[in-house]
Amino acid sequence: MVTEEASAGSGANRGVLYVVATPIGNLDDITHRAVKVLSTVDVIAAEDTRTTKILLDHYRIRKPMLSYFSRNEGTRAPQLIARLHQGQSVALVSDAGTPGISDPAYVVVRQAVEEGIPVVPIPGPTAFISALVVSGLPTDRFVFEGFLPQKKGRRTKFEQLKAERRTVVLYESPHRIRKTLAEILEHLGDRRVVVAREMTKKFEEIVRGRVHAVIEELGRKEPRGEYVVILEGTDARERDSDTDSGM
Ligand code: SAM
Repeated sequence: MVTEEASAGSGANRGVLYVVATPIGNLDDITHRAVKVLSTVDVIAAEDTRTTKILLDHYRIRKPMLSYFSRNEGTRAPQLIARLHQGQSVALVSDAGTPGISDPAYVVVRQAVEEGIPVVPIPGPTAFISALVVSGLPTDRFVFEGFLPQKKGRRTKFEQLKAERRTVVLYESPHRIRKTLAEILEHLGDRRVVVAREMTKKFEEIVRGRVHAVIEELGRKEPRGEYVVILEGTDARERDSDTDSGM
């Protein structure tokens, strides 16, 4: 077993890969430690350098940046590993939230771990955690499914989720949110659901109710922005079925 001392903030930040969480919409949602790490590393590997530049400008951070996105992970990861072996420190960020959560990170993190390079998390926002904790659905056990498969495997996934006892957390785009809710109603029934839109942003909105009612509510205007969908599991349905008439 290999253990590492988290060296962030101690000044000993050479040859370390920092996985840094950044805001999911509100630029104030970043930790002091994240700002410190972004200000002191040798290079920032960003999913989209233009998006990250807005954040860096806001905090007056000037650092060299490299792109690291899903389609260049395979070639970029070994380049970052080479820099880390040379003693450079690298901060990995995505467009929003925590890298590795429905965002690139896994390939370079795995390589760093395999090569004995210290990997240090700098925790911060994740959209689904923000949505889950205000959902009003059970948070003691949950499963994060990320984006559902768009075509192949979609039906099978719904079949699997039917029997899921834990709260189910999904990511969804504005283009598919209505379709996904309609399919949830069809395959999983009229259970309780929470749709959290634009968390931490100006138009943050949380809609709670049975699936049919939430579909109705979302039908009132064209869906816009980013969505987290939280579904109650079968256990919660059984637990509440005697007393519950809605939400
Ligand atoms: N790495 C991010 C995280 O830590 O949450 C997730 C990135 S994933 C590519 C983008 C998806 O996350 C969006 O389509 C949406 O489902 C969800 N998301 C991100 N920001 C959000 C926000 N402010 N409000 C609601 N959902 C959000």
